[in-house]
Amino acid sequence: MSKERLYLFDTTLRDGAQTNGVDFTPTDKLAIMRMLDELGIDYIEGGYPGANPADTQLFAEPHMLHSTFTAFGMVRRPGRSTSNDPGLAALLDAKAAAICFVAKAWDYHVKVALETTLDENLAAIRDSVRAARGRDREVLLDCEHFFDGYKANPSYAMACAKAAHEEGASWVVLCDTNGGTLPHEVEAIVAEVVKHVPGDHVGIHAHNDTEQAVANSFAAVRAGARQIQGTLNGLGERCGNANLVSIIPTLKLKPEYAEKFDINVSDDQLKSLVRVSHALDERLNRSSHRHAPYVGESAFATKAGIHASAIMKDPSTYEHVTPESVGNQRRLLVSDQAGRSNVMAELERIGLKVDKNDQRVTRLLEEVKDREAIGYAYETADASFELLARRMLGTVPKFFDVSYFDVKVEQRAGNGHGPEVLTTAVVKVRIGDEMLINAAEGNGPVNALDVALRKDLGKYQKFIGGLKLTDYRVRILNSGTEAVTRVLIESEDETGEHWTTVGVSANIIDASFQALMDSIVFKLVKSGAPA
Ligand SMILES: [Zn+2]
Repeated sequence: MSKERLYLFDTTLRDGAQTNGVDFTPTDKLAIMRMLDELGIDYIEGGYPGANPADTQLFAEPHMLHSTFTAFGMVRRPGRSTSNDPGLAALLDAKAAAICFVAKAWDYHVKVALETTLDENLAAIRDSVRAARGRDREVLLDCEHFFDGYKANPSYAMACAKAAHEEGASWVVLCDTNGGTLPHEVEAIVAEVVKHVPGDHVGIHAHNDTEQAVANSFAAVRAGARQIQGTLNGLGERCGNANLVSIIPTLKLKPEYAEKFDINVSDDQLKSLVRVSHALDERLNRSSHRHAPYVGESAFATKAGIHASAIMKDPSTYEHVTPESVGNQRRLLVSDQAGRSNVMAELERIGLKVDKNDQRVTRLLEEVKDREAIGYAYETADASFELLARRMLGTVPKFFDVSYFDVKVEQRAGNGHGPEVLTTAVVKVRIGDEMLINAAEGNGPVNALDVALRKDLGKYQKFIGGLKLTDYRVRILNSGTEAVTRVLIESEDETGEHWTTVGVSANIIDASFQALMDSIVFKLVKSGAPA
């Protein structure tokens, strides 16, 4: 029996950006977009072009993605024509293959919030969908408050959905905007909707106000909907959106769904789920939810005792799916086999061939554990992990030594403009017999240090010309008695490749220096620079 295709639509960058305390920079948005694309998500909603400069910028250039990049915005305003609505114009001009319009589907909101007639709202839906189809865009319509609207006036809510479908919208998305609808209600209402709009054109957008956004999404799928909207880690305002990180493995691993549906996420992509979920938290400077289903550190952790010994004999006795399927690991004892197989998997990914019984693998595993215990984060800092591994195998040449550095921050009275802060850094680098001294000014100590370090690396300079630091994140960790600082640096080079390095120290400059050094050395290794 051939399976039905189920589509995933991510709104982390739009609805997720509404989360209290979340403020995505343009760099964050691009990085998250890449991550979603690599995960195999069908649609990525980038934001609201025209609403703020960052989103407008994001939609100014096309992005090379496998996913369908989607712009979000309102249907034309009541009483305006489609050609005379700046908001709609910004959407139509956005460099995005799809447009997701939002429109009201609850008669009460149309009258009270929009202050217009029910007919004018339907006309706005029809006109906007038609205008976007006319510009060759795939169109989705988010029916705001669909479920509450349906309960109040089913024929009007349905009329909104049908209007969009008839004008050629490929998806009509039923939104539980207030998040209070319960699964049995979702299932019953979606079952009615699919009698009028075919299920393979119906999506569900659930909010988590009763902790049932994931359950509501599955209820809609059972009733016939074939698109699920959600966010990574369930980000979203109030209690969040449906969590795609929980939905994806359920679709892939639970026979009820896996036997019936295909999604674009492959088994290999599924194995990156833990990494993706943690990378988002790291970017938001949050600690990951230990007890998150599938991806949490505790999701497959079992305390010693009868459970642990049963698991050793047969893992399926206490696990509903295998931890490896989502890139997680079983945690039983400190020196477990899982740690080793994880390290082996990483070595294979990097392309380093080494026997699993090699003593160096044991040493690497110990080193990673020791360092992670004091704050290093190798799951995120892929490049630092690779260097650690390569050093353990003895394949990193000694390119250069920094024999000395000095960073000075001065505050001086400015002439009437408040105090001026000046930062300078001096770095002494030894390359073979050669000693180079570089000095630089910067807009802060880390920047000055970075500029000085990369100013002149002698014969290696040509390899690092295209190196750029794209992000710098600092986090204070309380490990035991004293607070330490973890610095994560993200770098990019002329080939567009990205990597992350880490440094940990009680001193922020020292932590930054470690991460900077790793980034440069990684680039030299990657470029095949000679020793
Ligand atoms: Zn929403």
